[in-house]
Amino acid sequence: MTKTLLTLRAVALLLTTAGYAQEAHIETPEAVHPSHWDYETHGPSCWGGYAQECQKGHLQSPINIVSKKSIPLKGSLSLKINEDIHTTADVVDNGHAIQVNVKNGGKLVIDGREYTLMQFHFHGHSEHTIDGKQYALEGHLVHKSADGHLAVVGIMFNEGKNNPVLDNVLGGIGRTIRIDPQDLLPHDKKHYYHYVGSLTTPPCTEGVQWYILKAPMTASKVQILDMRAYYDHNFRPVQPSTSIKLESK
Ligand SMILES: [Zn+2]
Repeated sequence: MTKTLLTLRAVALLLTTAGYAQEAHIETPEAVHPSHWDYETHGPSCWGGYAQECQKGHLQSPINIVSKKSIPLKGSLSLKINEDIHTTADVVDNGHAIQVNVKNGGKLVIDGREYTLMQFHFHGHSEHTIDGKQYALEGHLVHKSADGHLAVVGIMFNEGKNNPVLDNVLGGIGRTIRIDPQDLLPHDKKHYYHYVGSLTTPPCTEGVQWYILKAPMTASKVQILDMRAYYDHNFRPVQPSTSIKLESK
């Protein structure tokens, strides 16, 4: 580990008020995931050894979104987001990210097909970039349809005002919390980038419907450092996007 990272981690620990960051890495990734892919020694460049699609796929995520290359989304495709559900959720350190497993998720309806929210998790720097800009954090709300199709809503975070939802998540690691996933979303849910890509971690499965909301949320500097005290490097580099059709609304 680099000295800078150690310092960053120490600063984040000092800045932590609830004392939750000390619980980081109780379980090692190896103990949780026998295949032990990670973002360092067994990082993205060798994920092909864990799952071929990571190396050989043509619709791999994340990507750099070039806004002026996006084409207007056809009016017929409708995305309805209904996450306004008060639910209980288990907050876990899954060895790669801080993840919130919701008991009773909201729904996305894409062209009449329903997808249920299964979990959301956070990346300590954004995975997608927009016109080359990497955001402070990225949240992924992972939804699944009854027949197993995946749709992920991506939320970008800039450094700014404190975010109460993140306090709830960071303070609840290892516990069950009450949460309304809707609170994670920006007010403007009507404007987004859409493309078909993949999971950003092994097995890098393709066919994932991505919806990256254009309106960013904010997180305070302390919250960003707290999240990074757990995972600072858990972002896959952007992938070639030549085969990807990027749409926007
Ligand atoms: Zn993710």
